Order: sequence, then structure tokens, then C-alpha cells
Amino acid sequence: MRTQFTLKCTDCKSENYTLTKNKKTHPDRMEVKKYCPTCKKSTVHKEKK
Ligand SMILES: [Zn+2]
Repeated sequence: MRTQFTLKCTDCKSENYTLTKNKKTHPDRMEVKKYCPTCKKSTVHKEKK
């Protein structure tokens, strides 16, 4: 079973990525370093609930 979630930039708070994940393998909130087009650099993106 896969759940859809949004990755939000911690710098500018824009929602840049929508991903799916397996809740059994990743039960916690994910934190990923990804490129933010608004900040024009790689920032930490946090899962938004
Ligand atoms: Zn940003």
C-alpha cells in the first residue's frame, strides 16, 4: 500500500514535490535534500501531512 505525500521546502515553504511511499518501510516523516526552484538551490524538504 502506497501513500501520496508532499515534500515542502523548509526555507520558503513551497510545495515542490509529490511522492508516494510505502508506509510500512517509511512510517516516519521523511526529510530529503532536494532542489527547490523557488530558492534556486538544494534545500531540505520535509514531508507535509
Ligand atoms: Zn525553497
